[in-house]
Amino acid sequence: MAAITLKDINKQYGDGFHAVKDVSLDIADGEFVILVGPSGCGKSTLLRMIVGLEDITSGEMLIGGQRVNEKAPRDRNLSMVFQNYALYPHLTVFENIAFPLRLSKTSAKEVDERVRHAAELLELTEHLDRKPANLSGGQRQRVAMGRAIVREAQAFLFDEPLSNLDAKLRGQMRTEISRLQKRLGITTVYVTHDQVEAMTLGDRVVVLRRGVVQQVATPRELYENPVNLFVAGFIGSPPMNFISATVVDGRLHTPFGEWTLPESRATGLPGREVVLIGARPEAFEDASVVSDTIREHGVVFDANIDVIEWLGNEQYAYVPYEAPEDIRAQLAELERELDSEAMRTQLVVSLDATSRIPEGTTASLWLDLRKVHVFDPASGENLT
Ligand code: ATP
Repeated sequence: MAAITLKDINKQYGDGFHAVKDVSLDIADGEFVILVGPSGCGKSTLLRMIVGLEDITSGEMLIGGQRVNEKAPRDRNLSMVFQNYALYPHLTVFENIAFPLRLSKTSAKEVDERVRHAAELLELTEHLDRKPANLSGGQRQRVAMGRAIVREAQAFLFDEPLSNLDAKLRGQMRTEISRLQKRLGITTVYVTHDQVEAMTLGDRVVVLRRGVVQQVATPRELYENPVNLFVAGFIGSPPMNFISATVVDGRLHTPFGEWTLPESRATGLPGREVVLIGARPEAFEDASVVSDTIREHGVVFDANIDVIEWLGNEQYAYVPYEAPEDIRAQLAELERELDSEAMRTQLVVSLDATSRIPEGTTASLWLDLRKVHVFDPASGENLT
């Protein structure tokens, strides 16, 4: 097992495309780190540079304290688990797991011991004689991990391993990978474009945009304190709502009325004329179900509710809203980049299951102002 250190790593492809820009990252021994971001942000390139499948244009990469820039993949002792698991269909589970040991001419006795030990860890013992075709997707995944275990690799690297699976199996595998990683304590770097995987699996998450690291933080920190509009919009589903506001004498003039932020949230307002207020769906509530003591921490305003989605434990209410002209272009770009829902034209509000607001009516909503963020619409920076 080993720590992985990236120092000012850059990747420029042959055609001059700058895919990874000045990435520095310290991954601790045993840590589970997720690289996440929309398609084309450079996450696979970064992973491939760690494995050694891609040259590093500039910067330094250390694994276990040793510089590996010039080392071939096989000399890095890392184990990569791909989407398709790369299992040999004609070999049994035993032989698939044993494969790397056969290559290194390990004695038959030791092969047997190590494969059985890995199979036990992965709960594959009873399937050792089967062929991959007769395994479930989850079991195949574990065989691929078994190979990494017998090699005693310094780290596991995963490139979108679950993207071919259906939603249910993906959920199960997520839990399984998380459990195994904790049990084995192996340094793991995991690439995904799925923010749910990023939030549920990692100790820390690295959010990438156009080759540049935006934020490195625990899932909770990313959710609660996103550094900019991009991270705020990417993490969370349904996404954060963005409401434009002009600042007049420290008060916010919004399409939903005049609001005064509590001191803790208002630090970014002085000197600003226009800001974007970010509020997650759960910062809102049906005003009629909010108690008086809680109500004073927020504002109550009228909103047209055109659609309600009932989910049993909560409901999503959709509020049509037209972002003003000057920020529409920026939100449109964010929507496109994040492949996200319509941020320019609606708010998505989460309501308590007990709320009885009918669709197609104007209702009184409450927004918890202690939970809002203030963004600079031009730079996207979170000013809160
Ligand atoms: P995805 O989720 O779609 O796989 P990604 O974040 O993993 O995306 P990369 O595969 O790392 O993205 O690619 C990052 C950028 O580098 C993309 O714009 C891609 O087109 C570009 N790129 C990748 N490989 C090459 C190459 N060999 N030559 C030139 N550009 C490349």
